Amino acid sequence: MIDYRAARLRMVDYQIARRGLTELAVLEAMQAVPREKFVPAALRDRAYDDTALPIAHDQTISQPYIVALMAWAAELDRSHRVLEIGTGSGYAAAVMARLAGRVVTIERIASLADSARARLKKLGLTNIDVISGDGSSGCEAEAPFDAILSAAGSRTVPPAWKEQLAIGGRLIMPLGPFGDQQLVKIVRTGKTEYAQKTLVAVRFVPLLGGTG
Ligand code: SAH
Repeated sequence: MIDYRAARLRMVDYQIARRGLTELAVLEAMQAVPREKFVPAALRDRAYDDTALPIAHDQTISQPYIVALMAWAAELDRSHRVLEIGTGSGYAAAVMARLAGRVVTIERIASLADSARARLKKLGLTNIDVISGDGSSGCEAEAPFDAILSAAGSRTVPPAWKEQLAIGGRLIMPLGPFGDQQLVKIVRTGKTEYAQKTLVAVRFVPLLGGTG
């Protein structure tokens, strides 16, 4: 029987803090979310491995370090409204919900959205809305967002995401062709001005649908 709490502490220490990501709120959020509850039962013992893992429908739950890095780069605080594209297991949404005020997350595979919604409810996370649908055009009804995070990679930045950012808001997403993606941070610095920087090379599943 694995001591998941201890495994989680080691994950936060070795995979995140020792890689230089030491912001306390992010480390606490990563320590608070039980990743073993977001992976398929057969992979539970590998929940704290330093890697992405397969979930249903050929999708993946992101590597813990990448989830932490995205949450950190998004500069979240309790007053913020966040949009996530690609709910998957709901793990990243759960981490962000501990740092932000409200999280809206969109998943195109209905059965993944349904199980994530049930899982998050069971964990008592009430500030997350899971929407089943195509997130490539964002969520106009809930915009603007202080941060938008995509868990699916795209060759170009979907225009709706830039439009739905608040001024000063951050968009964190994997950008580039499959196999050559970079995690980028795009800050909306003015009504029509954006600043972009590259964080790290990554490998995410592709964004499908509309503008993906
Ligand atoms: N954040 C997730 C990672 C899921 S992987 C986690 O922590 O588990 C990325 C997800 O993006 C997949 O579930 C995939 O179905 C979804 N996806 C891909 N294109 C999408 C789109 N256009 N709209 C919404 N979800 C999309």
